[in-house]
Amino acid sequence: MPRLDFLAGAVLPLALSLLATPAFAVSPGVAPAAAAAQRGDVLATVKVLRKSDPAKALAIGEPVWAAATDKNAVVELGLELGDAAVAARNEAKAVEIGSALREHAVLTPEQQVRLLKALNGAIWSTKDAKRIAALEADLARLEKTLPADAANVPELWRQLAASYMKMQALDDASRVARLALSKVRKHPDLVEYNANQIIFITAAQQGRMPEAVAAMLEVERVGKALGKPEDPALLHNATGLFNYMQDWPKAVAYGERAVKAWDAKPKPGLARAEVLNNLGAAYMGAGQRERAEAVYREALASARANGQPVGVSLNNIADVLQQTGRQREALPLLAEAAAEFERDGSIPEAAIVYSNIGANHADLGQRAAAASAFARSLALFKQSDNVPRRLELYPRMIDNLDAQGRHREALALMREFKAANDDFVNVESKTRIGELESAVALARKEGELAQSERDRAAQQARLTALEAASQHQRLMGYGLIAALLLLGALALVKMRESRFRKRTNLELERRNAETLSQHRELEKLNATIRRQSEEDALTGLHNRRYAQDWCARLAATQAEARANGQRIEPVLVMLLDIDHFKRINDVHGHEAGDHALLHFSDVLRSCARGSDLLVRWGGEEFLWVCPNTSASEAAALFERVREQLRAQPLVRASGTVTLTVSAGVSLFPLWPGRVGDWSLSLRVADAALYRAKREGRDRWVGLGPGRMAAFDACQPEASIEALEAQGCLARLGNDGRVSHGERGDTLAH
Ligand code: GH3
Ligand code: MG
Ligand code: MG
Repeated sequence: MPRLDFLAGAVLPLALSLLATPAFAVSPGVAPAAAAAQRGDVLATVKVLRKSDPAKALAIGEPVWAAATDKNAVVELGLELGDAAVAARNEAKAVEIGSALREHAVLTPEQQVRLLKALNGAIWSTKDAKRIAALEADLARLEKTLPADAANVPELWRQLAASYMKMQALDDASRVARLALSKVRKHPDLVEYNANQIIFITAAQQGRMPEAVAAMLEVERVGKALGKPEDPALLHNATGLFNYMQDWPKAVAYGERAVKAWDAKPKPGLARAEVLNNLGAAYMGAGQRERAEAVYREALASARANGQPVGVSLNNIADVLQQTGRQREALPLLAEAAAEFERDGSIPEAAIVYSNIGANHADLGQRAAAASAFARSLALFKQSDNVPRRLELYPRMIDNLDAQGRHREALALMREFKAANDDFVNVESKTRIGELESAVALARKEGELAQSERDRAAQQARLTALEAASQHQRLMGYGLIAALLLLGALALVKMRESRFRKRTNLELERRNAETLSQHRELEKLNATIRRQSEEDALTGLHNRRYAQDWCARLAATQAEARANGQRIEPVLVMLLDIDHFKRINDVHGHEAGDHALLHFSDVLRSCARGSDLLVRWGGEEFLWVCPNTSASEAAALFERVREQLRAQPLVRASGTVTLTVSAGVSLFPLWPGRVGDWSLSLRVADAALYRAKREGRDRWVGLGPGRMAAFDACQPEASIEALEAQGCLARLGNDGRVSHGERGDTLAH
């Protein structure tokens, strides 16, 4: 390793030996001749030892350096000791010596350049951004004193840019790299090659992809002009970049070249398996799953043959298997990958793999196994504090628990999801949630179902857009998943191999994985928000907004049937309100109230058919719409609910509660031969419910079409009483027929 530029990467040939080393001069007036002679000996020894044993060189030279009161007399020794300190990784010492030289000695321009390099090298390791800025000022000053074609000025700027990049001062790194480029006089030049690498990496890290691509192409062009062999690491990174940008044909092309370049000249620190995995991801993105599988399998074989970690390759193969319906084959591979990651302490990777295991089980309908794998994944994500991934996992887990009927656990997770979300969600999502929430709140406030058509259409458009986004996301998802897993996992695997080497590449990959993950998170969130906007958070039943669309669709179906001269199937509408619900809250607490609501919704679910619509209409009020159901079935339906409630009382520590419910029943359309009017059907059901309450609760009351022969004369806006008086409405008997007796003479059901 070259001594000073070892930190700047092995590609730099420059080094101090290229610079003229001025002859050591003792200023005669200052030091006695004997001391000067001793210094000369020490300097010679230090020069010899500096490379082979820098610590010893320091030990011999430093006392002499420290004893010299006039640093001008020991400039050359100081420079040698500075180099030795850097070589010995004693950055603090290097900075100390360098600062003393800068402040207390007069240096020739060449010496200044040399000092600058030494300091740059030292500062590179001390991670002190302020010192870099001071160096930049030094370099600008120094440059003016040097002849125009002096030393390797562009390279000095390039090294400074590299230092900035090391410190994650990306804007400065990019700016100074461009400055270095502007100073290059002959073309092609190695500085162009290296400065463009810096611009490539910083731009990619900051998400300026077109700029990154341009710089990458420039690196390629200059490299070719310099006669450099193709650099597998560069091509590998380019593949990652194009994978990220979803430019699959380019990703494939670069991935293939990366493999060839690697085969021509293996790159230490970059496993062939990594290169192959990137290529596989590109094929996956391009939809060439067979090719992807073959490449991933080659990666696996290569990793196995070389005793390298196999988790990433296994996971990638499993991804193809899952996408092609071979979940049973995928599972053992994932098990091996999980074991390896856990053994190596690669928690984030293990978490991803468990999440994939869960997804495969879920695909196979093995819900319990899926749930336990998801739970393990969640625990690991929590352990590694990986919030974006955790957020990605929640909806899967919640869906899975839902499918198992474990609604309460699903609800608990939903709350956890929401809490984690609130901490994390970016501004864009927050705005969207805000929009949706206010839309939902608005809808709730409205007492009537009928809302302005324009509002509805706008909401529909928004939901459609969200749907389209998630559809789009699903289409691209497969490739992304592969790229994401790969990049994320690679970062850590490589970090373990060599923390120092290729740090910038790792940074790039890590950053890519993060951005990608955030992107996917946002899309997932959209899907969740869309679902939330249609569901009641407590019970998981549909909400009013959803009911509105559902009923509109049903009305449209009826209208179409009527237009085609077909029979209109009867639709039963039942509005249910839990009796004395307030008492449950008052006696047993609000939580017991929530529990009762959940219990009641479970009962409703068990009584309803798949084609029915169940809505949480308001606090403890529920709407049950039953297509293809006539009034004659109302009694049986209500009785089913009633019996279930009686058979399953709520057991609380504070006592046992048997819920009862009252219901109002009406029909849609209300009047045969007329077009249905939802607000009328609901108003009638509401009036019927009110009567059921008044008549003693724990019963149902139904109102249907009255005796009138021609319903055309009925006014939907008229009061319920007026409609009854006109014969437009009448009470339903237990058999579902209208009662023709006096009003009120029937019927406590
Ligand atoms: P009635 O038999 O006449 O229907 O009497 P009620 O007590 O059921 O009706 P009322 O409308 O007087 O009270 C309803 C209560 O339901 C008041 C409100 O605090 C409570 N409530 C509404 N939403 C929720 C909820 O989400 N959770 C809980 N725990 N209580 C709720
Ligand atoms: Mg009530
Ligand atoms: Mg109520």
